[in-house]
This record gives sequence, C-alpha cells and structure tokens, in this order.
Amino acid sequence: MSRIVIKVGSNVLTTASGKLDITRLSSLVDQIAWLKSRGDKVVLVSSGAVACGRGELKVENALDSVEQRQLFSAIGQVKLVNLYYDLFREYNIHMGQVLTMKENFEPGEQFNNQRQCMEVMLHNDVIPVVNENDTVSVTELMFTDNDELAGLIARMIGAETLVLLSNIDGIYTGDPKDPESKVIRKVLPGESLEQYIQSSKSSAGRGGMESKHHTARVVADSGIRVIIANGKRENVLIELFSEPQGDIVFTEFVAKQQATEVAANNGN
Ligand code: GLU
Repeated sequence: MSRIVIKVGSNVLTTASGKLDITRLSSLVDQIAWLKSRGDKVVLVSSGAVACGRGELKVENALDSVEQRQLFSAIGQVKLVNLYYDLFREYNIHMGQVLTMKENFEPGEQFNNQRQCMEVMLHNDVIPVVNENDTVSVTELMFTDNDELAGLIARMIGAETLVLLSNIDGIYTGDPKDPESKVIRKVLPGESLEQYIQSSKSSAGRGGMESKHHTARVVADSGIRVIIANGKRENVLIELFSEPQGDIVFTEFVAKQQATEVAANNGN
C-alpha cells in the first residue's frame, strides 16, 4: 500500500480539436480504481478545466487572458469534476474536489490546513481531485502549472511516487519527433537533463517539459520517486504499477535516499 500522486495534463484529457476526451478520462478512472483496489492511496491532480470550459462556450466579445481563464475554468471545472464524480461512483469510490492556491503551500497555518484537508480525505478513503482555483488565482501568484502543484502535494503528504502524465513517453535525448531521439529511462539523484530539454509547450495546458523536469528534480531530491509517462497510452498506470512492470517506456527520477539504498545494496 502506498501513497501515489497522479497528475494528468490538459493535453492528455483533450482531443486534437480541444474537446474533452471522455474515453481517456474514463480509462484513467478505471486504472485509479485498480490502484485503489490494491490498497493504494491516490491523489489525482487534474488539469483540463480551462480546456473543458473553452469547448463549452463560444464568446462574442474579446476577453483578455485572465478573463478567459476565469470564465472557462469556472465552467469547465464543474463539467470535469462531475464526470469524475459519476465515473468513480460506478466503483463506489468517493472523490472530493480540492481547489487550491499557491499561498496554501507557504509554511504556516495555511499549509497545515491544506495538509489536514488532504489527510482527512485520504484517511476516510476519499480521492482528492485537485486543481488550482483558477477563478481567483492572481497571475503573478499562480503555480507555474499543475506539475508544480502536484509536486507540492506529493511532498506535503509524503507520497512514495509522483506520476506526471503527459502526451509523450518521457524526457527525450532530443526532439521527440526526431526518430534518433530516445527516452531517458532513469535519472539518478543530482543528475540534470537540462541540456536535453526543449522549451516548447503543448497548446492545451500551461506546463511543458522544462517545468516537469524542474518539478521532478526537486521532488526526487526530497525522497519521492517521480515518473514522467504518456497518459495517452492504454493502461499506462496498470503497466507502471504491475509487478512485474509492463513493457512500457518512461522516464523515472530515482528518489534520493532510494539511490543511496541501491548503492548500499551494491556494497558501494
Ligand atoms: N489549472 C488549469 C486547468 O485546469 C491547468 C494548468 C496547467 O496546465 O498546468 O485548466
């Protein structure tokens, strides 16, 4: 039984036309239900509110970027969380919505409050479905993206593993479209992949590989294993967490003390 934080990006949950991919979302819920049936405690950090809202409403007048985020996230978050609610209910699994802001992770009362909220949900077997409260977040004080948010939650609850699901298999040695590029399979503590990272981003969300790499490095250094994998791959979570593991390509950041244990086991 372990604590697993799973972050699903907007690009995983939307189709090429920008609409919510309900089949994908439903499959991820099935897989989380499988993890839960093994006794794992899961926190789901799900993006997709803005993308989801955009598909729901055509606006007549031009909106600035803040207005767009506020309007579309307000509409989209309801749709997103309703879907999760219905799908988890098929498994008799309770989920609860947690909308949060960066200031809730600053040391002190707010941090303790936020942690208490996660703990009481996990303790009562409720899956927290977390997103940034985009309707009230102020641009300068926002999380860089939901990868950063998921990393903060993983550290807050002392997770064993953080899984960042994106629309590519992991961090590549070059341009993912170049057939010569390969996925970097294991990243040891202290190792930086900065020279390999492309700064380009997908269109759907705010994140990108640069920030995934940064979050993964910080979180793995704090003792939590981090996996970057392709959320569009069928049964990605089942393949990752089955024993033996499925034949799946992904990037793993080895957690700091885990590597020390490996070294100790090897007599180093
Ligand atoms: N909170 C945003 C949403 O749900 C996504 C942020 C991100 O792309 O990381 O639409």
